[in-house]
Amino acid sequence: MEALDVAITPASPYGLRVDNDQTYDCVIIGGGFAGLTAAVWLGRYRRPTLVLSAGPPRNAASHALHGYPGFEGANPETLLAALRREAGRYGIAMTQALVEQAERTNEGFAAHANRRRYRAKRLLLATGIRDSQPDIPGFDQFAGTSAWHCPACDGFEYSGKPLAVVSWGPQMAGYALELLNYTDRVTVVTHGHDPGVPPDHLDKLTANGISVHQSKITALQGRKGQVERLLLDDGTNIPCDGLFYSINHQPRLDLIRQLGCATASDCVVINHKQETTVPGVYAAGDIVPLEELVVVAAAMGAVAASNIHKSLIPDSRRVR
Ligand SMILES: Cc1cc2nc3c(=O)[nH]c(=O)nc-3n(C[C@H](O)[C@H](O)[C@H](O)COP(=O)(O)OP(=O)(O)OC[C@H]3O[C@@H](n4cnc5c(N)ncnc54)[C@H](O)[C@@H]3O)c2cc1C
Repeated sequence: MEALDVAITPASPYGLRVDNDQTYDCVIIGGGFAGLTAAVWLGRYRRPTLVLSAGPPRNAASHALHGYPGFEGANPETLLAALRREAGRYGIAMTQALVEQAERTNEGFAAHANRRRYRAKRLLLATGIRDSQPDIPGFDQFAGTSAWHCPACDGFEYSGKPLAVVSWGPQMAGYALELLNYTDRVTVVTHGHDPGVPPDHLDKLTANGISVHQSKITALQGRKGQVERLLLDDGTNIPCDGLFYSINHQPRLDLIRQLGCATASDCVVINHKQETTVPGVYAAGDIVPLEELVVVAAAMGAVAASNIHKSLIPDSRRVR
Protein backbone atom coordinates (compact mmCIF):
# COMPACT_ATOMS: atom_id res chain seq x y z
CA MET A 1 0.00 0.00 0.00
CA GLU A 2 1.32 3.42 -0.93
CA ALA A 3 1.85 5.35 2.30
CA LEU A 4 -0.16 8.45 2.99
CA ASP A 5 1.87 11.65 3.09
CA VAL A 6 3.10 11.73 6.64
CA ALA A 7 3.92 15.41 6.60
CA ILE A 8 1.14 17.94 6.75
CA THR A 9 0.71 19.49 3.31
CA PRO A 10 2.05 23.07 3.76
CA ALA A 11 -0.09 24.90 1.22
CA SER A 12 -2.12 24.12 -1.83
CA PRO A 13 -1.40 25.54 -5.27
CA TYR A 14 -4.91 27.01 -5.02
CA GLY A 15 -4.11 28.97 -1.87
CA LEU A 16 -5.75 26.70 0.72
CA ARG A 17 -3.57 26.84 3.82
CA VAL A 18 -3.32 24.10 6.38
CA ASP A 19 -0.78 23.72 9.16
CA ASN A 20 -0.13 21.75 12.29
CA ASP A 21 -1.75 23.97 14.90
CA GLN A 22 -4.85 25.18 13.22
CA THR A 23 -8.44 24.22 13.78
CA TYR A 24 -9.44 22.50 10.56
CA ASP A 25 -12.81 23.09 9.01
CA CYS A 26 -13.07 19.32 8.86
CA VAL A 27 -11.12 16.34 10.09
CA ILE A 28 -11.94 13.17 8.18
CA ILE A 29 -11.28 9.93 10.04
CA GLY A 30 -10.73 7.10 7.52
CA GLY A 31 -9.01 7.51 4.17
CA GLY A 32 -10.90 4.92 2.15
CA PHE A 33 -13.27 5.59 -0.75
CA ALA A 34 -15.79 7.62 1.28
CA GLY A 35 -13.23 9.64 3.21
CA LEU A 36 -11.03 10.48 0.23
CA THR A 37 -13.96 11.41 -2.02
CA ALA A 38 -15.13 13.79 0.73
CA ALA A 39 -11.56 15.12 0.95
CA VAL A 40 -11.46 15.89 -2.79
CA TRP A 41 -14.78 17.74 -2.56
CA LEU A 42 -13.85 19.66 0.60
CA GLY A 43 -10.68 20.68 -1.23
CA ARG A 44 -12.76 21.98 -4.13
CA TYR A 45 -14.88 23.92 -1.62
CA ARG A 46 -11.58 25.36 -0.29
CA ARG A 47 -12.15 24.03 3.19
CA PRO A 48 -8.98 23.39 5.25
CA THR A 49 -9.25 19.66 5.88
CA LEU A 50 -7.15 16.89 7.38
CA VAL A 51 -7.53 13.16 6.65
CA LEU A 52 -6.37 10.82 9.42
CA SER A 53 -6.20 7.22 8.30
CA ALA A 54 -4.51 4.00 9.33
CA GLY A 55 -4.85 0.50 8.05
CA PRO A 56 -6.05 -0.95 4.78
CA PRO A 57 -9.46 -0.36 3.17
CA ARG A 58 -12.00 -3.15 3.39
CA ASN A 59 -11.29 -4.57 -0.07
CA ALA A 60 -7.49 -4.42 0.26
CA ALA A 61 -7.16 -8.14 -0.56
CA SER A 62 -9.05 -7.76 -3.82
CA HIS A 63 -7.14 -7.14 -7.06
CA ALA A 64 -10.06 -5.94 -9.15
CA LEU A 65 -12.87 -3.57 -8.36
CA HIS A 66 -16.21 -4.34 -10.01
CA GLY A 67 -19.19 -2.08 -10.57
CA TYR A 68 -17.49 1.29 -10.17
CA PRO A 69 -18.75 3.05 -13.29
CA GLY A 70 -16.00 3.71 -15.81
CA PHE A 71 -13.33 1.82 -13.85
CA GLU A 72 -14.31 -1.85 -14.27
CA GLY A 73 -11.53 -4.13 -13.03
CA ALA A 74 -9.42 -1.30 -11.60
CA ASN A 75 -7.05 -2.17 -8.79
CA PRO A 76 -8.61 -0.70 -5.59
CA GLU A 77 -5.29 0.63 -4.33
CA THR A 78 -4.60 2.33 -7.67
CA LEU A 79 -7.92 4.16 -7.38
CA LEU A 80 -7.19 5.17 -3.76
CA ALA A 81 -3.72 6.41 -4.72
CA ALA A 82 -5.31 8.54 -7.47
CA LEU A 83 -7.78 9.97 -4.94
CA ARG A 84 -4.93 10.81 -2.54
CA ARG A 85 -3.05 12.60 -5.33
CA GLU A 86 -6.20 14.48 -6.31
CA ALA A 87 -6.93 15.52 -2.70
CA GLY A 88 -3.28 16.52 -2.27
CA ARG A 89 -3.53 18.81 -5.30
CA TYR A 90 -6.31 20.72 -3.53
CA GLY A 91 -4.12 21.11 -0.46
CA ILE A 92 -5.82 18.52 1.70
CA ALA A 93 -3.56 17.37 4.53
CA MET A 94 -3.22 13.63 5.03
CA THR A 95 -1.55 11.83 7.90
CA GLN A 96 -1.17 8.17 8.66
CA ALA A 97 -2.71 7.89 12.10
CA LEU A 98 -5.05 5.60 13.99
CA VAL A 99 -7.58 7.77 15.78
CA GLU A 100 -8.11 6.33 19.23
CA GLN A 101 -10.39 8.93 20.67
CA ALA A 102 -12.73 11.65 19.43
CA GLU A 103 -14.46 14.20 21.62
CA ARG A 104 -16.65 17.27 21.58
CA THR A 105 -14.94 20.49 22.67
CA ASN A 106 -16.03 24.10 23.21
CA GLU A 107 -14.93 25.07 19.71
CA GLY A 108 -16.09 21.90 17.95
CA PHE A 109 -14.29 18.58 18.07
CA ALA A 110 -10.91 16.97 18.67
CA ALA A 111 -9.45 13.72 17.35
CA HIS A 112 -6.59 12.08 19.23
CA ALA A 113 -3.96 10.15 17.27
CA ASN A 114 -0.18 9.78 17.21
CA ARG A 115 -0.16 11.31 20.72
CA ARG A 116 -1.51 14.51 19.22
CA ARG A 117 -4.81 16.33 19.34
CA TYR A 118 -6.28 17.50 16.03
CA ARG A 119 -8.96 20.19 16.29
CA ALA A 120 -11.89 20.55 13.90
CA LYS A 121 -15.11 22.47 13.41
CA ARG A 122 -16.65 19.39 11.79
CA LEU A 123 -15.85 15.69 11.90
CA LEU A 124 -16.51 13.12 9.19
CA LEU A 125 -16.32 9.49 10.23
CA ALA A 126 -15.59 7.15 7.33
CA THR A 127 -14.04 4.26 9.20
CA GLY A 128 -15.75 1.43 7.30
CA ILE A 129 -16.46 -2.12 8.39
CA ARG A 130 -14.39 -4.83 10.07
CA ASP A 131 -14.98 -8.28 8.46
CA SER A 132 -14.36 -11.58 10.22
CA GLN A 133 -12.71 -14.18 8.02
CA PRO A 134 -13.28 -17.90 8.51
CA ASP A 135 -10.60 -19.71 10.45
CA ILE A 136 -9.60 -22.14 7.69
CA PRO A 137 -5.98 -23.25 7.15
CA GLY A 138 -4.55 -21.50 4.06
CA PHE A 139 -7.54 -19.16 3.62
CA ASP A 140 -5.30 -16.13 2.99
CA GLN A 141 -3.91 -17.72 -0.20
CA PHE A 142 -7.35 -17.42 -1.80
CA ALA A 143 -8.79 -14.27 -0.16
CA GLY A 144 -9.38 -11.62 -2.79
CA THR A 145 -8.59 -13.91 -5.74
CA SER A 146 -11.24 -16.64 -5.46
CA ALA A 147 -12.61 -16.26 -1.90
CA TRP A 148 -15.04 -13.39 -1.58
CA HIS A 149 -17.42 -11.79 0.80
CA CYS A 150 -19.83 -9.75 -1.33
CA PRO A 151 -22.16 -11.42 -3.90
CA ALA A 152 -23.01 -8.08 -5.53
CA CYS A 153 -19.30 -7.22 -5.95
CA ASP A 154 -18.02 -10.56 -7.24
CA GLY A 155 -20.98 -12.90 -7.93
CA PHE A 156 -21.30 -12.03 -11.63
CA GLU A 157 -17.85 -13.50 -12.38
CA TYR A 158 -19.14 -16.91 -11.19
CA SER A 159 -22.24 -17.06 -13.39
CA GLY A 160 -23.15 -20.72 -13.85
CA LYS A 161 -20.09 -21.95 -11.89
CA PRO A 162 -19.99 -24.16 -8.77
CA LEU A 163 -19.70 -22.14 -5.55
CA ALA A 164 -19.00 -23.08 -1.94
CA VAL A 165 -20.52 -20.88 0.73
CA VAL A 166 -18.91 -20.81 4.19
CA SER A 167 -21.42 -19.38 6.60
CA TRP A 168 -23.49 -19.99 9.70
CA GLY A 169 -25.85 -17.94 11.82
CA PRO A 170 -29.04 -16.01 11.06
CA GLN A 171 -27.82 -14.47 7.77
CA MET A 172 -26.63 -17.79 6.29
CA ALA A 173 -29.71 -18.89 4.32
CA GLY A 174 -30.41 -15.45 2.82
CA TYR A 175 -26.76 -15.13 1.82
CA ALA A 176 -26.68 -18.55 0.10
CA LEU A 177 -30.02 -17.94 -1.66
CA GLU A 178 -28.73 -14.58 -2.95
CA LEU A 179 -26.00 -16.43 -4.85
CA LEU A 180 -28.67 -18.34 -6.84
CA ASN A 181 -28.96 -15.12 -8.81
CA TYR A 182 -25.65 -16.07 -10.43
CA THR A 183 -25.55 -19.88 -10.37
CA ASP A 184 -27.70 -22.81 -9.29
CA ARG A 185 -24.59 -24.75 -8.14
CA VAL A 186 -24.31 -23.62 -4.51
CA THR A 187 -23.17 -25.75 -1.54
CA VAL A 188 -23.09 -24.46 2.05
CA VAL A 189 -20.50 -25.53 4.63
CA THR A 190 -20.91 -24.36 8.24
CA HIS A 191 -17.32 -25.30 9.17
CA GLY A 192 -18.26 -27.30 12.27
CA HIS A 193 -20.82 -24.79 13.53
CA ASP A 194 -24.49 -25.27 14.15
CA PRO A 195 -26.27 -23.68 11.13
CA GLY A 196 -28.04 -21.38 13.59
CA VAL A 197 -31.11 -20.89 11.38
CA PRO A 198 -34.75 -21.91 11.86
CA PRO A 199 -35.96 -25.14 10.18
CA ASP A 200 -37.89 -23.27 7.48
CA HIS A 201 -34.63 -21.64 6.30
CA LEU A 202 -33.05 -25.08 5.92
CA ASP A 203 -36.20 -26.28 4.06
CA LYS A 204 -35.89 -23.35 1.66
CA LEU A 205 -32.24 -24.17 0.96
CA THR A 206 -33.14 -27.81 0.26
CA ALA A 207 -36.06 -26.80 -1.97
CA ASN A 208 -33.60 -24.69 -4.00
CA GLY A 209 -31.10 -27.53 -4.38
CA ILE A 210 -28.59 -26.18 -1.85
CA SER A 211 -27.09 -28.82 0.45
CA VAL A 212 -25.70 -27.90 3.88
CA HIS A 213 -22.61 -29.66 5.31
CA GLN A 214 -21.85 -29.15 8.98
CA SER A 215 -18.39 -30.73 9.06
CA LYS A 216 -15.21 -28.76 9.65
CA ILE A 217 -13.12 -27.69 6.67
CA THR A 218 -9.61 -29.11 7.01
CA ALA A 219 -8.09 -27.61 3.86
CA LEU A 220 -8.69 -25.54 0.75
CA GLN A 221 -7.04 -26.96 -2.34
CA GLY A 222 -6.16 -25.01 -5.46
CA ARG A 223 -3.38 -23.25 -7.31
CA LYS A 224 -2.17 -19.68 -7.70
CA GLY A 225 -5.01 -18.21 -5.63
CA GLN A 226 -7.67 -20.22 -7.49
CA VAL A 227 -9.59 -22.46 -5.09
CA GLU A 228 -10.57 -25.83 -6.60
CA ARG A 229 -12.06 -27.81 -3.70
CA LEU A 230 -12.83 -27.84 0.01
CA LEU A 231 -11.79 -30.87 2.06
CA LEU A 232 -14.00 -31.67 5.06
CA ASP A 233 -13.06 -33.72 8.13
CA ASP A 234 -15.74 -36.32 7.31
CA GLY A 235 -13.86 -37.13 4.08
CA THR A 236 -16.19 -35.17 1.77
CA ASN A 237 -14.61 -32.98 -0.87
CA ILE A 238 -16.54 -30.15 -2.46
CA PRO A 239 -15.33 -28.98 -5.88
CA CYS A 240 -15.84 -25.28 -6.53
CA ASP A 241 -14.62 -22.41 -8.68
CA GLY A 242 -15.18 -19.82 -5.96
CA LEU A 243 -15.83 -19.51 -2.23
CA PHE A 244 -18.11 -16.91 -0.65
CA TYR A 245 -18.07 -16.36 3.10
CA SER A 246 -20.29 -14.50 5.52
CA ILE A 247 -19.40 -14.84 9.19
CA ASN A 248 -19.64 -11.54 10.93
CA HIS A 249 -19.03 -7.96 9.97
CA GLN A 250 -19.27 -4.95 12.20
CA PRO A 251 -19.21 -1.25 11.33
CA ARG A 252 -16.43 0.50 13.26
CA LEU A 253 -18.61 2.53 15.61
CA ASP A 254 -16.25 3.07 18.58
CA LEU A 255 -15.63 6.74 17.77
CA ILE A 256 -19.29 7.30 16.88
CA ARG A 257 -20.23 6.03 20.35
CA GLN A 258 -17.52 8.09 22.09
CA LEU A 259 -19.00 11.20 20.49
CA GLY A 260 -22.48 10.31 21.74
CA CYS A 261 -24.04 9.84 18.28
CA ALA A 262 -27.17 7.69 18.32
CA THR A 263 -27.04 4.15 16.97
CA ALA A 264 -29.89 1.73 16.31
CA SER A 265 -29.38 -2.03 15.91
CA ASP A 266 -25.60 -1.48 15.71
CA CYS A 267 -25.96 1.12 12.95
CA VAL A 268 -25.20 4.84 13.10
CA VAL A 269 -28.28 7.02 12.72
CA ILE A 270 -27.91 9.79 10.08
CA ASN A 271 -30.16 12.22 8.26
CA HIS A 272 -30.29 12.99 4.52
CA LYS A 273 -27.23 15.23 4.91
CA GLN A 274 -25.13 12.31 6.26
CA GLU A 275 -25.18 14.12 9.63
CA THR A 276 -25.44 12.06 12.81
CA THR A 277 -27.60 13.01 15.79
CA VAL A 278 -24.66 15.09 17.09
CA PRO A 279 -24.68 18.31 15.02
CA GLY A 280 -21.37 18.70 13.22
CA VAL A 281 -20.51 14.99 13.16
CA TYR A 282 -21.07 13.30 9.79
CA ALA A 283 -20.73 9.66 8.71
CA ALA A 284 -20.21 8.18 5.23
CA GLY A 285 -19.35 4.90 3.54
CA ASP A 286 -19.78 1.35 4.78
CA ILE A 287 -20.12 2.59 8.35
CA VAL A 288 -23.61 3.75 7.29
CA PRO A 289 -26.21 1.01 6.71
CA LEU A 290 -26.71 1.15 2.94
CA GLU A 291 -25.34 -0.87 0.00
CA GLU A 292 -21.73 -1.67 0.86
CA LEU A 293 -20.22 -0.65 -2.47
CA VAL A 294 -17.41 1.67 -3.47
CA VAL A 295 -19.67 3.80 -5.68
CA VAL A 296 -22.12 4.26 -2.78
CA ALA A 297 -19.32 5.06 -0.30
CA ALA A 298 -17.91 7.66 -2.68
CA ALA A 299 -21.35 9.18 -3.24
CA MET A 300 -21.96 9.44 0.50
CA GLY A 301 -18.57 11.12 0.88
CA ALA A 302 -19.54 13.72 -1.72
CA VAL A 303 -22.93 14.35 -0.03
CA ALA A 304 -21.28 14.71 3.37
CA ALA A 305 -18.67 17.14 1.99
CA SER A 306 -21.32 19.31 0.37
CA ASN A 307 -23.32 19.55 3.60
CA ILE A 308 -20.23 20.13 5.75
CA HIS A 309 -19.29 22.98 3.43
CA LYS A 310 -22.82 24.48 3.54
CA SER A 311 -22.94 24.22 7.34
CA LEU A 312 -19.80 26.37 7.57
CA ILE A 313 -21.07 29.26 5.44
CA PRO A 314 -21.57 32.24 7.79
CA ASP A 315 -25.05 33.73 8.17
CA SER A 316 -23.77 37.02 6.72
CA ARG A 317 -23.42 35.24 3.34
CA ARG A 318 -26.82 33.55 3.34
CA VAL A 319 -30.14 34.83 2.06
CA ARG A 320 -33.54 33.35 2.81
C1 LIG B 1 -13.04 -8.80 -0.57
C2 LIG B 1 -13.89 -7.59 -0.88
C3 LIG B 1 -14.09 -7.24 -2.20
C4 LIG B 1 -14.89 -6.13 -2.50
N1 LIG B 1 -15.08 -5.83 -3.81
C5 LIG B 1 -15.84 -4.77 -4.13
C6 LIG B 1 -16.10 -4.48 -5.52
O1 LIG B 1 -15.65 -5.19 -6.43
N2 LIG B 1 -16.90 -3.41 -5.79
C7 LIG B 1 -17.44 -2.62 -4.81
O2 LIG B 1 -18.14 -1.67 -5.14
N3 LIG B 1 -17.20 -2.90 -3.50
C8 LIG B 1 -16.43 -3.93 -3.14
N4 LIG B 1 -16.21 -4.23 -1.82
C9 LIG B 1 -16.79 -3.32 -0.80
C10 LIG B 1 -15.86 -2.09 -0.61
O3 LIG B 1 -14.60 -2.54 -0.17
C11 LIG B 1 -16.47 -1.13 0.40
O4 LIG B 1 -17.80 -0.80 0.04
C12 LIG B 1 -15.62 0.17 0.49
O5 LIG B 1 -14.28 -0.13 0.81
C13 LIG B 1 -16.23 1.11 1.52
O6 LIG B 1 -15.48 2.30 1.57
P1 LIG B 1 -15.31 3.08 2.96
O7 LIG B 1 -14.55 4.33 2.63
O8 LIG B 1 -16.59 3.20 3.66
O9 LIG B 1 -14.42 2.12 3.87
P2 LIG B 1 -12.95 1.57 3.63
O10 LIG B 1 -12.62 1.58 2.19
O11 LIG B 1 -12.88 0.27 4.36
O12 LIG B 1 -12.01 2.66 4.34
C14 LIG B 1 -12.05 2.90 5.73
C15 LIG B 1 -10.66 3.36 6.14
O13 LIG B 1 -10.69 3.89 7.46
C16 LIG B 1 -9.58 3.38 8.18
N5 LIG B 1 -9.87 3.46 9.61
C17 LIG B 1 -10.76 2.71 10.32
N6 LIG B 1 -10.77 3.09 11.61
C18 LIG B 1 -9.86 4.10 11.73
C19 LIG B 1 -9.41 4.92 12.81
N7 LIG B 1 -9.91 4.76 14.06
N8 LIG B 1 -8.47 5.86 12.58
C20 LIG B 1 -7.95 6.03 11.35
N9 LIG B 1 -8.34 5.29 10.26
C21 LIG B 1 -9.28 4.34 10.46
C22 LIG B 1 -9.49 1.95 7.64
O14 LIG B 1 -8.28 1.33 7.97
C23 LIG B 1 -9.67 2.20 6.15
O15 LIG B 1 -8.47 2.61 5.55
C24 LIG B 1 -15.48 -5.34 -1.48
C25 LIG B 1 -15.27 -5.70 -0.14
C26 LIG B 1 -14.50 -6.82 0.17
C27 LIG B 1 -14.32 -7.21 1.61
